[in-house]
Amino acid sequence: MKFDACEICGGDVRERRVTVDLRRGQRFYVFYRVPIGVCRKCGERYYPGPFLERLGELAEHGLNGAARLSVPSFELAKVE
Ligand SMILES: [Zn+2]
Repeated sequence: MKFDACEICGGDVRERRVTVDLRRGQRFYVFYRVPIGVCRKCGERYYPGPFLERLGELAEHGLNGAARLSVPSFELAKVE
């Protein structure tokens, strides 16, 4: 995949496989090894085309058999 220079700092944007967290209401999804553009200088992320929509669709319909993670959650008022 080819990316334009970073809009923030003008740095070189290269494809990298990263972990993407996606939240839909009360549900939280984690996608591993997603190929996106990442600025080598400032770390800004660039999601090609309708990428987030596609991940959203997967979260809604395509995750039969997905691994389940256990995530700690806190309500601040109850944390001492
Ligand atoms: Zn940058």
